[in-house]
Amino acid sequence: MIISMKNLGKIYKNGQIEVEALKHANIDIEKEEFVAIMGPSGSGKSTMMNIIGCLDKSTSGEYWLDGINISTLNEVELARIRNLKIGFVFQSFNLLPRITALQNVELPMIYAGIGSKERRKKASSALERVGLEERMHHKPNEMSGGQKQRVAIARALVNSPALILADEPTGNLDSTSSEEIMSVFQDLNREGVTIVLVTHEPDIAEHTKRVLRFRDGIIRADETVKNPVDAR
Ligand code: ADP
Ligand code: ADP
Repeated sequence: MIISMKNLGKIYKNGQIEVEALKHANIDIEKEEFVAIMGPSGSGKSTMMNIIGCLDKSTSGEYWLDGINISTLNEVELARIRNLKIGFVFQSFNLLPRITALQNVELPMIYAGIGSKERRKKASSALERVGLEERMHHKPNEMSGGQKQRVAIARALVNSPALILADEPTGNLDSTSSEEIMSVFQDLNREGVTIVLVTHEPDIAEHTKRVLRFRDGIIRADETVKNPVDAR
């Protein structure tokens, strides 16, 4: 089990005002699952992603990530687990513009203290996995949106995380590039990578294997996608 949530709740407090953003969420996500989180604005998706990604903590219940009880950790431990266990992909790519694709993918390994030779080797192989080996010396502004997002996925993969978390990964892409990105995710998932993404688009969710629908802080549906659309 990669993720296990037991009766998880989140209340934001601003002075006298309290917002109950998540209510008794119970979710288990196994290794090699591919999950889409959907729901209207304000339904608790970002709150859930922040908790899964160890960027924020619940205010009640338990969150277990890869066998670790996250609910008991302090900020420093949380940051360590985050770097070790999670690869993040964002809607806006978040690449550094002045350095090459290869150098962008090397960044998480610099923070992890990995030597330059091994960094280069692992970064090229991650770029190969996302089909971008011939573009690795290009800078982000010389690439299409879909290519930039593939660089971001390679960067998320490079420290072999337990989980890839993607927040609206196709939100800035046209439909062709979106398909391209979903194809990359499907290939990685077939190779055993666990992926959780947030999307507003039903067409995107149809490429995953399971859809969690949020409303008013509650998971109101947990559906298996019977015949996921193959992006290839
Ligand atoms: P949040 O995570 O708080 O919803 P976002 O930046 O994701 O914040 O979204 C801001 C607003 O834009 C929300 O109302 C959201 O529903 C809407 N939105 C964001 N992305 C999309 C999208 N791809 N399609 C439709 N609406 C979107
Ligand atoms: P979504 O991502 O689905 O748009 P959010 O998780 O961002 O939903 O928000 C869920 C609820 O929590 C909303 O009512 C939102 O206004 C509230 N909320 C989110 N972040 C905060 C915060 N930092 N302080 C207070 N309320 C918040």
